[in-house]
Amino acid sequence: MKSMEALREKPFTLSGEDLHEPVPGFLFMDTLDRGVAGYACGWVVKGRRNSILVETGAGAAVPMWLSALDRAGISHESIEWILLTHVHLDHAGGAGELLRHLPNARIGIHPDGIRHLIDPQRLVSQAKAVWKDDFALLGSMLPAPADRIVPLADGDLIDLDGVRRFRVIHTPGHTPHHAVFFEETTRGVFSGDALGAFFSASKPGLFSTVPGISPPLGDIPEYLSSIARIAELRPQCIYAAHFGLWEPAHSFIHIAAGQVALLWKLCREVRRSGGTLKEVQCRAAGILAGSPPGRLPQAELERSSLAMAEAAWNFVIRRETRNDLALPSRR
Ligand SMILES: [Zn+2]
Repeated sequence: MKSMEALREKPFTLSGEDLHEPVPGFLFMDTLDRGVAGYACGWVVKGRRNSILVETGAGAAVPMWLSALDRAGISHESIEWILLTHVHLDHAGGAGELLRHLPNARIGIHPDGIRHLIDPQRLVSQAKAVWKDDFALLGSMLPAPADRIVPLADGDLIDLDGVRRFRVIHTPGHTPHHAVFFEETTRGVFSGDALGAFFSASKPGLFSTVPGISPPLGDIPEYLSSIARIAELRPQCIYAAHFGLWEPAHSFIHIAAGQVALLWKLCREVRRSGGTLKEVQCRAAGILAGSPPGRLPQAELERSSLAMAEAAWNFVIRRETRNDLALPSRR
């Protein structure tokens, strides 16, 4: 096995007022999800003439995108694709509305995500239940017209002006319709939520991580198999949605997989001993998050960690009721 090199966030320069450029031609914008800085970002990849957006963030990010693109000198007409890893609002909420401003763009997404883009109603109700009072801060999610959405099959290739090439990899687990995009020329993965979230801490070289197990459809074994598939690509770097550019990829992947496996084990142990979610959340504090936060507020990091522990716990219970998990106490 390759020895673990220290994981680090790639420093970035400003390009345009709001777009950061950690690698030439690869820019990201903080989408200020629910007004929280440092939580979620979307990417623009520039080709010779055209560009591709990966993840839009929530509806509230649309005006920010339009002015950031203008300031960076990227014309609205030059955006060919909006690639979405999945339809959760922090990744895809602004896609329908952005299409109205980007006349040549098509949305590319896993086939099973399409119906939610055409009719976001169910998704929006789910998000309301999760975010409660904060829901309004996400902005609205407008439907996208079906004739501008392209289903992406596993292995599909998307070319950008002959200088960049994105390979679609289906990665169920966070949601059944999750996909990541492997950019072959830089060997970087746009990971969406397939590898969880990494946030830089206040000191260089330190970071906090939150696994990407999500309610209600998250599936932990599938999530782990998808991580293994990403590892097989032998990527160099991770273009994360949460948050920024990280390298080396193998350290990121190793940490992401280890953390989910530990959380899963913890949930099963606590369940077997008759414990509760509270106990999981207390004991998970040692596995999740960790370092003093940098850009992301501490409260947000804690909220995320508790929610993920709860999602993992609910998965274990769901599985057990499906009789997939033999519990000694129930035999
Ligand atoms: Zn997310």
